Amino acid sequence: MSDKKVTVLGAARSGLAAARMLKRQGTPVFVSDIAEKENKTAQVRELEANGIEYEFGKHSQRCYDADMVVLSPGIPVKSEAVQQFLHKKIPVYSEIEVASWFCKAPIIAITGSNGKTTTTTLIGEMLKKIYPDAIVAGNIGLALSDFVEDSYSGTWVVVEVSSFQLETIDSFHPRIAAVLNFAPNHLDRYDRYEDYLKAKWRITKNLKPEDHLIYNLADQNLSSWVEPLNVQKHGFDINGRKESIIEFVEGCIRFKDAVFMREQDIALRGMHNYMNVMAAILAADLAGVPADAIKGTLSEFSGVEHRLEFVREFDGVRYINDSKATTVESLSYALRSFNVPVVLIAGGKDKGSNFSALNQLIRERTKAVVLIGSATEKMAETWKTFKPIHPAQSMEDAVNKARSIAAPGEVVLLSPACASFDMFNDFEDRGRCFKAIVSDL
Ligand code: ADP
Repeated sequence: MSDKKVTVLGAARSGLAAARMLKRQGTPVFVSDIAEKENKTAQVRELEANGIEYEFGKHSQRCYDADMVVLSPGIPVKSEAVQQFLHKKIPVYSEIEVASWFCKAPIIAITGSNGKTTTTTLIGEMLKKIYPDAIVAGNIGLALSDFVEDSYSGTWVVVEVSSFQLETIDSFHPRIAAVLNFAPNHLDRYDRYEDYLKAKWRITKNLKPEDHLIYNLADQNLSSWVEPLNVQKHGFDINGRKESIIEFVEGCIRFKDAVFMREQDIALRGMHNYMNVMAAILAADLAGVPADAIKGTLSEFSGVEHRLEFVREFDGVRYINDSKATTVESLSYALRSFNVPVVLIAGGKDKGSNFSALNQLIRERTKAVVLIGSATEKMAETWKTFKPIHPAQSMEDAVNKARSIAAPGEVVLLSPACASFDMFNDFEDRGRCFKAIVSDL
């Protein structure tokens, strides 16, 4: 790499990590971002501390003087800047692709529309029982570039990969890939649902016949994509189908024809999580983690922050932070996880979603809906005939409204089904804001 000139487009978390890694590798690297410099003081400080050249406020001619580009996942391939590179026949790669060139350990890669972070983290916890140096990175908020140089062949790397990262892979080659599910998402960025699925499906691009693909048998759409592939296939199933090696039936996970674990012994809750658990068991088992270590992890791991996270009980009402639920699908699973009336706080920035897909669950599972953010009108229009709708001006207003509606024994659930960027920096900021207000009640 030292004889290649690299431009990193976008000075966000993974772009900066790639720039630092390439710099450590002795590669001439230049970072270009159209955001104004005044708004990127932390990034500027970091680039200067690492001696990395950069520009803000434009993509000048300088950035086109490159042998290749590392693209931040926030910048669409169809954007003008990227198209110009492609037009000049300069290859464009995602950070995960470039990081994988430096990876000496076999890779487990997780994608899907929902459940990626939970499953990736869970697999990481299982691996660490016998591979203490296992690396857990990717879309979970830790760029692989920051850790990959520590990898070696006797351990494992597990990465969460988004459709955006997969769009620009080339030789990225996981030994074990998991596709958890296919559901509409990011329809604001893809012209067609099919394009989004195709981007995700690129995770299978370099799988060899001896590699492993873990997938959800209950997802008919996904199963049909798996069929023609020549790989080792491992389907997990929530419906007890004959062809599955692992399934969830009658409150038990059965694996290799025996009861593996009972629902009450698994710390995670909810049907969606049992699917994540099954995918994680398969991956860890293929990576050589003994059954006892897998079971031990499952009895301890109660979830990742901002994913159906219990915050506190106040006046007999349980407050749950599911800020990471940025899709219709995630909200639907969240609502199905409670068997008491839910006062739902939803809304934010719409991602082109079809909220009417939730009509039945809103009718059956909620007591009222409190809405925040720019999607308020669209969501209110969709649900107002089923339930009382309460628009709120801020998170504090939303929590106070929800508190006045919820009765003892009920649940206040923040599960927005929208992105957070209209009111918050990201879903973590939104979740922390909710938790702080709830803690102050
Ligand atoms: P991702 O990383 O794919 O966004 P997370 O593990 O962060 O997924 O979970 C985000 C939200 O999606 C959770 O709060 C939960 O409501 C929902 N969810 C988690 N796993 C699944 C699944 N397997 N199927 C559907 N929804 C899920």
